[in-house]
Amino acid sequence: MPNIRFDSVEKCYGTVKVLPPFDLDFEDSEFTVLVGPSGCGKSTTLRMLAGLEDVTSGEIYFDDKPISHLEPKDRDIAMVFQDYALYPHMNIAKNMSFALRLQKVQKKIIDEKVHRVAEMLGINELLNRKPGELSGGQRQRVAMGRALVRDASTFLFDEPLSNLDAKLRGKMRTELAEMRNTLDKNMVYVTHDQVEAMTLGDRIVVMANGLVQQEGTAEALFESPVNKFVAGFIGSPPTNFLEADLFEESGLLFARGEGFSLRLASALKDSLDTLSGRAVTLGIRPSVIKPGSEAPADSAQISLYVKLCEYLGAHKVIVTMCGLHEVMIESQSSARFETGVEAQFAIAPEDIMVFDKNTELRL
Ligand code: ADP
Ligand code: MG
Repeated sequence: MPNIRFDSVEKCYGTVKVLPPFDLDFEDSEFTVLVGPSGCGKSTTLRMLAGLEDVTSGEIYFDDKPISHLEPKDRDIAMVFQDYALYPHMNIAKNMSFALRLQKVQKKIIDEKVHRVAEMLGINELLNRKPGELSGGQRQRVAMGRALVRDASTFLFDEPLSNLDAKLRGKMRTELAEMRNTLDKNMVYVTHDQVEAMTLGDRIVVMANGLVQQEGTAEALFESPVNKFVAGFIGSPPTNFLEADLFEESGLLFARGEGFSLRLASALKDSLDTLSGRAVTLGIRPSVIKPGSEAPADSAQISLYVKLCEYLGAHKVIVTMCGLHEVMIESQSSARFETGVEAQFAIAPEDIMVFDKNTELRL
């Protein structure tokens, strides 16, 4: 499998710059997920890799070989699209083997491959049926199988699960996660769904507005987001953001905003004097806000108005107000909260993320 490298790749449609020059590496045999909101340039990135779009400038390398001048068929890539179409008059086996038959691969080898992939995807009972006799989820698997039977070094998936209902998506996600462990191939997977990204990717590349915001493992992105966008995009329920100003008191750093004053961890990158007076946005994950009664003495205290509790089985989401801002809290489902009252909550200072208000970068 080659290492894939985007070197200052830029994409414009006419005068509109969709992707400013960017670098991106895909390591050998890695499952990489590109995730970001709709319109951020994920499909464009994938299509340039497949050769379905030209690069405006820059170069894509497979190992050290430039490939941007190559036709799609010469790139050793197989792609699964969001809007796949199966041939309605061919049975599933024929649909899956279509590309191999075009390449005049021996029948015996074709049969072997189709059966192996069908087995992996759990569709071997369906090989003699026509697409019209399959459910949406089964058709989706066939579309995936059609790509996987090919001996490509690199597989590209563009939102392959987006046409499925929530339950089937979850199931397919698990199956894909299992499947990727058995395949020693490069896989690049595009989705707008951060849960899908977190469950599937060895490495996740978060994109927004045509820019790579951060790349890393699911844990790294969740634990150490580099900016406000990543902190808000990764994790569910999403991070709460509160505007505040920093100030110093007795050698400690505090953030003061509408209706709260929170002690912050001392381990920020900058020194106290450069931070004091700075306008910031605090990022607080719903899971780190605890009932005040359970809190250790050195935690930051905040008073919140408890609006309502949503019981979700395994856990509970409590919707509270901090002044005019909604703050979500995630707690164990056994915890009891009285609604319609102000209550004390606590947060460990090191769990409060601090972002510069203007640059939105983590401090
Ligand atoms: P994503 O897959 O992340 O939703 P795309 O890569 O499809 O985003 O699109 C990125 C941006 O490029 C969008 O703003 C989209 O409108 C624009 N775009 C995509 N294809 C074309 C095209 N053929 N002509 C002009 N603009 C395009
Ligand atoms: Mg897309």
